[in-house]
Amino acid sequence: MSVVNDIVRGADRVLIQERGPGVPEGIYGAECMSCEAVSPLFDDDSLPVAVWALQHSQDRPDHTLFLARTECHWRVVPRPDDPPPAASSGSDFLGPAFVGLMCLLTALSGLLPALTS
Ligand SMILES: [Zn+2]
Repeated sequence: MSVVNDIVRGADRVLIQERGPGVPEGIYGAECMSCEAVSPLFDDDSLPVAVWALQHSQDRPDHTLFLARTECHWRVVPRPDDPPPAASSGSDFLGPAFVGLMCLLTALSGLLPALTS
């Protein structure tokens, strides 16, 4: 699935970067670190932000440091169908361990009163 770009997979949900018609790959913006000035946001193009920063620095020559941001949309979607693990393989693996643990607990619970009395 080439369109879906997984970022993080959860148990039954996947976080992907939203793509498609009308969805920008990146939203660019910048803010001046010397004052409150913030650039407009531009879709898919960092050049207007760079021009804004240069113009701002021309207006105020001591304002030379900017925080540039690229934002994008994330979406959480149901996890695409993976081949479900066979039910028997899980219980085959867990079964003996579980029975062993129960035996151990039973043995310990029988042992503890003997030790404390
Ligand atoms: Zn400034």
